[in-house]
Amino acid sequence: MSVRAGREFLAIPGPTTVPDEVLRAMHRPAVDIYSGPLLALTDGLLRDVARVFNTKGHAYIYIANGHGAWEATLTNVLSKGDKILVLESGRFAIGWGENARRMGVEVEILKGDMRRAVRPAEVEARLKADKDKKIKAVLVAQIDTASGVVNDIEAIGKAIRAAKHEALLMVDAVASLGCMPFEMDAWGVDVAMSGSQKGMMTPPGLGFVVANDRAREVHKKAELRTPYWDWTDREGPQHYQKYAGTPPEHLLFGLRQALDMLFEEGLDKVHRRHALLAESVRRAVGVWSEGQAIGFNIIEAEERSDSVTCVLTNGHDPEALRAYCNQKCGVVLGHGIGDLSGKAFRIAHMGHVNAPMVLGTLSVIEVGLGALGIPHGKGGAQAAIDWLSAEVKA
Ligand SMILES: *Cc1c(COP(=O)(O)O)cnc(C)c1O
Repeated sequence: MSVRAGREFLAIPGPTTVPDEVLRAMHRPAVDIYSGPLLALTDGLLRDVARVFNTKGHAYIYIANGHGAWEATLTNVLSKGDKILVLESGRFAIGWGENARRMGVEVEILKGDMRRAVRPAEVEARLKADKDKKIKAVLVAQIDTASGVVNDIEAIGKAIRAAKHEALLMVDAVASLGCMPFEMDAWGVDVAMSGSQKGMMTPPGLGFVVANDRAREVHKKAELRTPYWDWTDREGPQHYQKYAGTPPEHLLFGLRQALDMLFEEGLDKVHRRHALLAESVRRAVGVWSEGQAIGFNIIEAEERSDSVTCVLTNGHDPEALRAYCNQKCGVVLGHGIGDLSGKAFRIAHMGHVNAPMVLGTLSVIEVGLGALGIPHGKGGAQAAIDWLSAEVKA
C-alpha cells in the first residue's frame, strides 16, 4: 500500500521544481536566431543575471550545467602551471579544484572538513605565508550542497584583502544564487558562477558566469582559453557570439520567466522566504535529533545553509528512509554524497518552494522515521509549524 498518488515533491538539491509559468514560457515555436525577440531577450538576460549576482561586471550565459560553468571560469583566467587555493567545506569546491588540476593547474587544498564552514582567518594566514604570491586564485563554494554548509564570502573577501594578496576570489554560487544574498562587488568577488536548475528555477542546461574588470584583465593573459568558453569571443558584437553558436532559445525564454518571477516577488523577499522555510526544516531536524539517531551534519547552527539541510542518520540506513518517502509517499529526498554516502540524507529547500511543500516533506520524513522505527524526537513537523506560525504574521 502507498499514499503517493498526486504530485511528486522533489526535495533534492537540484534540479528543483520548475514553476508551471516557466514550463509554459518554454512551450513555444523556435524563433530566428539573427533577428527579432531573441536579441533583446539576450541583452535583458545578461543584464539581469548580473543583477542577481549584484555586480556591475560582465555576465556570460553558457549552454552547460554547473560543471561546464566551472570549466568556463578556469579556462578564462588561468594558465597551465598556475597555482590555486581551494577552500574545503564539503565536496563542491574540491570538485571544481579537481577539474582545474586535470587542466594542468597546481591545486592546493586548504584543509577543512564536511562538518564546518571555511575559517576566514585560516585563509588569511595561508595567503600571508604565500610571500612570492604564487597563488593566482582562491576557489570556494558559497553553499556546499554536499555538507549543507554556508560560507561567509564577505569575510573570505576581507581575509584576502587583509593578507594584501592579489589572488582572484572565485565563488561557486550554484546552490545559493536566488536563495540567499550574493553581493559580488561589495564582497570583492572577482569571478562567480552558477547554474539554472537550483535557485534559478529553470531546467538544467544554462551555466552563468560573471567576471569583474580585474578578472577580465587577468583573462587577457590566460593561456587555458578555449574557443567555446572564451570571454573575449563572447563579448563580440554578433548575437551568435554570445552563445558561441545557436542560442539555447527555449531555456532562455524559461529563464526570462523565472527572473521575472524572482524580481516580482522581490529578491529580498525571496531570500527571506528561503530563510524562513530553512529554519522550519532546522526546527524539525532539531526535534528529531532528540532521539539520538538523527543529527545535523553541520555542527554550528549559524553555518547551516538556507537552501539545503544535510541530516545524519548515525547507524540507520538513510537509503531505506529515502526509498520509503519516495515509494510510499511521493517525496524525493537527496542522498548523502562524498564521505556522507550511506550516512545522511539531504532536504533541499531551494527555488520554487513554499510552506506546504516544505511542511509536507517534513511530515513525510516523520512518517518514514516512524514506519522504519528510526529513533527520533516526536513532533518535528509540529515544531516547523510553530516556527512558521510565529514568524509569518497574520
Ligand atoms: C549542483 C552543484 C554543482 C554542479 O552543478 P551541475 O549542474 O550538476 O554540474 C556545483 N556546485 C554546487 C555548489 C552545486 O550545488
